[in-house]
Amino acid sequence: MASNGRGVADRRGTGGWESVLETERTLEPGAEWHSELYRVAVDQFTRAADLLGLEDEIRARLREPRRALVVNFPVRLDTGHVESFTGYRVQHTLTMGPMKGGFRYGPGVSLGECAALAMWMTFKCALVGLPFGGAKGGVRCDPNRLSERELERVTRRYASEIFPIIGPDRDIPAPDIATGEREMAWFMDTYSQQVGHPVPEIVTGKPLVLGGTEGRDIATGLGVVYCIEELMETAGEAVDTQRVVVQGLGNVGGTVVRELAQRGATVVGVSDVTGGVVDPDGLDTEAVGDWIAGRRFLRGFPGGRHVGRVEVLEQPCDLLVPAAVEHQITGVNAPRIEARWIVEGANGPTTPEADEILAARGIEVLPDVLANAGGVTVSYFEWVQDQQKLAWQAAEVAVRLRLQLDDAFGRVREARDRRATDWRTAAQSVAIERVAEASRLRTIYP
Ligand code: NAD
Repeated sequence: MASNGRGVADRRGTGGWESVLETERTLEPGAEWHSELYRVAVDQFTRAADLLGLEDEIRARLREPRRALVVNFPVRLDTGHVESFTGYRVQHTLTMGPMKGGFRYGPGVSLGECAALAMWMTFKCALVGLPFGGAKGGVRCDPNRLSERELERVTRRYASEIFPIIGPDRDIPAPDIATGEREMAWFMDTYSQQVGHPVPEIVTGKPLVLGGTEGRDIATGLGVVYCIEELMETAGEAVDTQRVVVQGLGNVGGTVVRELAQRGATVVGVSDVTGGVVDPDGLDTEAVGDWIAGRRFLRGFPGGRHVGRVEVLEQPCDLLVPAAVEHQITGVNAPRIEARWIVEGANGPTTPEADEILAARGIEVLPDVLANAGGVTVSYFEWVQDQQKLAWQAAEVAVRLRLQLDDAFGRVREARDRRATDWRTAAQSVAIERVAEASRLRTIYP
């Protein structure tokens, strides 16, 4: 719909402003969320919705977020200077229960990016059977250039700004890129100060001593590895014979490297924001872990051959795990990927154009909504424990995580076979069917 000024005038009656509108361009539906990532999310959604024959009414309701809050707030830096920051919280659907989703810090954080990520959170929760709708948020900033005290002030002010739309039964934030236990502790304290009593269940991913759960720190990476184990079983192969490349060495990528190495896989390439290293004979993953723990970034690591942070994706391997940021495997580099499977630890690392090229080349992609769902699953466990004032043992968390993910994997595999489609469309179709059913049952208020 490029321009339908006439249509708008028709709908709005015959007021004096009609002639003005006739010449104006009407924005397309979803224009608010315009971004590359939202385009990808809608493209993936549309493929699955087409496969399901989803009715237009539900399509329209799921294609766009239900609510968004944009905030601009001042923070005093250590120099005394005051800087303004922009933050977001996007809530995709209220149909399934309270909303759940992380918040991230980065120079490219935008409303459209949060909208796409919130939509994926809805489908991720539905796929795993969690009683949540999706949300996402973040603050546009460069966390590497802010001191710890500045980050604390940003986090606390962001928490206060989005206070009106969050709550333990409304919307429960969690960690994402560049946020972790430390930020969750500040966030929980700020919310608790506002209401006048401790509310641990306002965020998940907190330190254990503040009501966090055993296993949340490694949950996303461990979930990726559980999915890889299921994938290998489906393919009739063993994990310990696989050569693996992992992009990203943070919470998710770092855990994937460690867990896969422990299971006997050979890690032939890794990268972080500062670059990558490859070694076809296998890298010393313990040395990589120690280097990152001591120096934060991979730059200067004395081992392997140094390559670019994106170039690492082209290293020949069996399993490629993008676990850094979105938009890494595109129409440009997909023809050069030399993996047999891609397992998405990150959200949105593969574009629809790349998906098509990879499918034509016989490379299977296990999608983010399934592969990285371990994080929100254990976040759900944390929320349940907080609500009930319980503390589960680490072994119980791991067993429950495995059960929940194996079950989701099985449903996706069944849908993929029954509908003769790819893993991504199958996963999205299972999730969308569930949300659509709930939407139909709740009908429309009033
Ligand atoms: P993180 O901040 O802990 O780590 C990010 C890693 O990626 C770092 O090693 C960083 O150096 C690297 N990186 C950043 N930009 C890069 C680039 N352009 N090229 C290569 N490496 C780059 O973040 P995280 O929590 O591990 O999240 C990683 C991804 O997983 C994100 O897409 C996030 O949305 C997704 N995810 C995270 C969780 C979670 O529980 N943390 C849950 C689900 C999904």
